[in-house]
Amino acid sequence: MPVCDVAVIGAGIVGAAATFRLAEQGLRVCVLEAAKAPATGATARSAAGVRVQFTEAVNVLLSKESIWEYRHFPEILDADSGYKPIGYLFLVPEDEAQAYRQALRLQAELGVRSQELDNNQARELVDFAEEGIAFATWGPDDGVIDPHAVTMAYLRAAREIGAELLLETELLEARAVSGGWRMTTGRSELEAGAVVNAAGAWAGEVARRAGFELPVEPYRRMVFMTGPLPEAEGLPLVVDVASGFYLRGEQQRVLFGRSNPNEPPGFREGMDWGWLEPTLEAGMGRFPWLERAGLDQRASWWGYYAITPDHNPILGRMPGLAGWYNAVGFSGHGVQHAAAVGRVIAEEITEGRARTVNIDPLRYERFAAGAALSERNIV
Ligand SMILES: Cc1cc2nc3c(=O)[nH]c(=O)nc-3n(C[C@H](O)[C@H](O)[C@H](O)COP(=O)(O)OP(=O)(O)OC[C@H]3O[C@@H](n4cnc5c(N)ncnc54)[C@H](O)[C@@H]3O)c2cc1C
Repeated sequence: MPVCDVAVIGAGIVGAAATFRLAEQGLRVCVLEAAKAPATGATARSAAGVRVQFTEAVNVLLSKESIWEYRHFPEILDADSGYKPIGYLFLVPEDEAQAYRQALRLQAELGVRSQELDNNQARELVDFAEEGIAFATWGPDDGVIDPHAVTMAYLRAAREIGAELLLETELLEARAVSGGWRMTTGRSELEAGAVVNAAGAWAGEVARRAGFELPVEPYRRMVFMTGPLPEAEGLPLVVDVASGFYLRGEQQRVLFGRSNPNEPPGFREGMDWGWLEPTLEAGMGRFPWLERAGLDQRASWWGYYAITPDHNPILGRMPGLAGWYNAVGFSGHGVQHAAAVGRVIAEEITEGRARTVNIDPLRYERFAAGAALSERNIV
């Protein structure tokens, strides 16, 4: 029976980053991936945004470390992460002004760049209807990466130092045994000293297959794309905080979306075209120029958020289950946290505790304690 030190379940951006950091520590790492290729889950469906503009310290720091790594990909991995600092602009409504000013202070304390812009300054970046907007916050180092390229670069580097990528190898069952976990896959049996659940929207199901419940559920999310539009040129990622509508430029087009609060959990497939109208209504109220945009249906897409009860990830060791580690539940912001999560999961396994970022606020135990992380910048 093949034996590895660590089995990573899922070859998305999170599993790939963890695999690289674990292999770098000299561990034998096997990646079990159900699909035919890596990066086919949410990693292939994201809007690719990365930002330090969060309201909770742990989220700011996970993004800070990750963006640093994406920026330095050529030196670290001899690869291009596709990082482009196009900036994130949050349009802050009056009733959120105090909270967002507090977040700006927190971000400054944590050493990341963000600033308040008045509406005139913000309108130099994007034309918007000012009604109800107190001011904007701007993160000049926020931007986009290429999640597929990042995933492939981590996996390539990890395989060069001995990690094994097992494609079309779905984890069917995992049982705790002396010294680790025995796993049954669609292909064979294998044993590992530790398991990292990095199965994205399927993480709850993976936990069930290991005999326990994890509060992570899949929710379908849509990204819409316009046809060519002059306004798309140079657009940053803009979030209308009041409605949750976001957009950004994608070459000559505008990509936009908004989470449907009434979407039920589950693996529902395909585009929900019924959600286009409420999304556009929110968008055109703030960005009237969107009325001139045609929609490119074929360039629009959908994917799954992996959502936890407080819309923040669950990281680190699973209490009561020796050798089981969570890197799950990113609730729509896993791309921007992945690089740092790779490091903290490797530290948790090799050093006993995450060091790069203190992940205590994101541990599973918060739910048992009835607590939740009250992050405001969930898009
Ligand atoms: C529409 C949309 C927009 C988004 N926009 C952003 C954004 O702008 N910025 C951002 O940071 N994040 C964004 N996200 C979220 C981001 O895409 C995810 O948080 C991130 O990709 C999660 O990566 P992952 O590796 O955890 O999961 P995934 O990429 O989903 O990978 C999980 C892998 O596990 C595999 N797997 C599942 N079950 C098993 C099993 N039993 N055995 C073996 N393998 C298994 C799957 O096949 C899959 O490859 C967005 C998501 C969506 C859907």
